Amino acid sequence: MTQPLLDVCNVSKAFGGVIANRNISLKVNRGQIVGLIGPNGSGKTTLFNSIVGYHPIDDGEIWFKGEEISRYRVGRIARLGLLRTFQQTRIYGRMTCMENMLISLPERESSFLDLLKSRHSAGIQRAKDLLEFVGLYSKRYHYAGDLSFGQQKLLEFAMALINEPEMLLLDEPTAGINPTLINGLIDRLKRANEELGITLLVIEHNMRVIMNLAEHIYCLAHGEMLAEGSPEEIRNDQRVIDAYLGAH
Ligand code: ADP
Ligand code: MG
Repeated sequence: MTQPLLDVCNVSKAFGGVIANRNISLKVNRGQIVGLIGPNGSGKTTLFNSIVGYHPIDDGEIWFKGEEISRYRVGRIARLGLLRTFQQTRIYGRMTCMENMLISLPERESSFLDLLKSRHSAGIQRAKDLLEFVGLYSKRYHYAGDLSFGQQKLLEFAMALINEPEMLLLDEPTAGINPTLINGLIDRLKRANEELGITLLVIEHNMRVIMNLAEHIYCLAHGEMLAEGSPEEIRNDQRVIDAYLGAH
């Protein structure tokens, strides 16, 4: 048995009287793309926030690379190589794509000289390479605010990649993107996984997208883990079908 890269064990989280996550367990192995689905309000974003240390959990344990991170804060978890993106894009519209990339650079380097020299030139090259990777190289000096919403999502993805994460948690990456751009985004996510070796846990509302992307899928409903399995098993799971039908 190999140790999972991310191991969420019996995690619970409540906000006042609302139990957003109850006894949630989930595993992701290195190199996998795993899906997390569930109707609105089922607790998906809360689970992401708990994993990356955005808020403390009430109960359970979270392990990453064999280290318990349950009580670590966001910065420490990010430095271990675990990052998330947000359901709402977080880019600076009045800055260019390159500037958005450069302000996302990790602050790993130690000296001020590094900051001025190596970090800057290496960072600029990395920013250009990643903009090329997501198909935004020709827009590198355009204001991020002038990009289409789908392109902003791609920029945000590149901004996460510049930190060289081992694992990325993506919160509804295709939400609000027009259907013709969705395939391009799926393709970039798969390439990040295959070529850059980044493990992905993806919250996705679009069933077609997640079936195409993930090799294993977890489904939440009302804050609890309802089902897990292959895309095929999830597609045919009556509890999952009922949860989605009940939600619309
Ligand atoms: P999802 O991402 O699956 O749509 P969320 O995790 O955002 O679901 O929300 C799960 C439940 O937790 C909802 O009932 C939501 O209202 C509640 N919730 C989430 N975050 C907070 C918060 N910061 N304060 C209070 N309630 C919250
Ligand atoms: Mg959400």
